[in-house]
Amino acid sequence: MNTLEQHYRQLLGLDAAWEVSDVALSLEEKRIDILLTHRGGKVECPECGASCSIADHAPERSWRHLNTMQFETHLRARVPRSNCKCCGVKTTKVPWAEKHSRFTLLFEAFAIEVLKACSTISGATELLGIGWDAAHRIMERAVERGLERRELESLEYVGMDEKGFGKGQDYISVLVDLSEGRVLEVSPGRREESADQLWAALGEDQRAGIKAVAIDMWPAFSKSISKHAPQAEIVHDRFHISKHLNEAVDKVRREEQKALMREGDERLKGSKQLWLFNPENMSEERWLEFSRLKDLELKTARAWAIKEQFRWFWDYRYAGNARKFFSKWYAWASRSRLGPIIQVAKMLKRHLANILTYFRHRITNAATEGLNSRIQSIKASARGFRAFANYRTRILFYCGKLDLTPPGITH
Ligand SMILES: [Zn+2]
Repeated sequence: MNTLEQHYRQLLGLDAAWEVSDVALSLEEKRIDILLTHRGGKVECPECGASCSIADHAPERSWRHLNTMQFETHLRARVPRSNCKCCGVKTTKVPWAEKHSRFTLLFEAFAIEVLKACSTISGATELLGIGWDAAHRIMERAVERGLERRELESLEYVGMDEKGFGKGQDYISVLVDLSEGRVLEVSPGRREESADQLWAALGEDQRAGIKAVAIDMWPAFSKSISKHAPQAEIVHDRFHISKHLNEAVDKVRREEQKALMREGDERLKGSKQLWLFNPENMSEERWLEFSRLKDLELKTARAWAIKEQFRWFWDYRYAGNARKFFSKWYAWASRSRLGPIIQVAKMLKRHLANILTYFRHRITNAATEGLNSRIQSIKASARGFRAFANYRTRILFYCGKLDLTPPGITH
């Protein structure tokens, strides 16, 4: 065996059963073909693991491997087929690739790193010199491996959320591990069945171990929780509640601005963002502009003050005190004569029991929202995205915090 053959032998981590029988270099095509030959003897049945004799050899196949310098490198081999007494004739496993993969394990490991690092799939396929379908299959296998290895024993707090896309509002539902900040599962739609599908990702023991679930005040999700994790407490979380309050302030502003504009009053013009910002995060300049606005006798300023006041609610240590605060706040909000604010206040009152659960669990969907924007960008950069299954694979690949590494490869 010459040194080049020896080099590849080591690189591929071949066991004694295989040898590098030829390394063919094509300068014109900038390509290297490594021919591997099985040495014969006993082989392992891929189904039951029994030691068998070789029945015959499958037709030659090739696997794309990591480039050698700039040379595209391929492995070629005829894989022996085992003659098993129990299972019949089966194509055996090879040490350099997974079943059905057209790539070697090392190539897949590299491709996974490139896919993770690239902001778009097409960017990665270009760098790797592979097609979109091939990239997708690598991701699919990686996610499958990751899901098999995933540990969920310590799961206690999850969030469920819906995410809408575009004006037509296609929805997906997302189940998130709030402690680890990872997506556990996604499903199409945002109905009760969508939530049921999310629960199916967890085993019975894991569902029984869930202490609380953070959700918006969305009955379809509540129902599904009571079916699949009846012991879990529902927490209507801070994140969604402040979203509802912000929307109410914005509705008040829009109505008021329309009325003011009819009288030629432009005080609210261009102020939309100011009312939504957290004052603590405002620049000094913005704050000056805003404080002039908020001190005016405007309905929007009143709505804003009511919304801001509610932030104190979350600072209480005990649910009892928070409840007292809520009734004062509610009295103020419900007498405000501001339709959208009254509507939200009533909704909060109706769900108060499951808002006060926050003081026992202190969970929010803030982590979910961070993942949601990642999910949004996956959607936005999707190419060839059709079936939901593809989309799910990509979400779990990027947001599932899964161990995606091919078997036998260590970092
Ligand atoms: Zn067998």
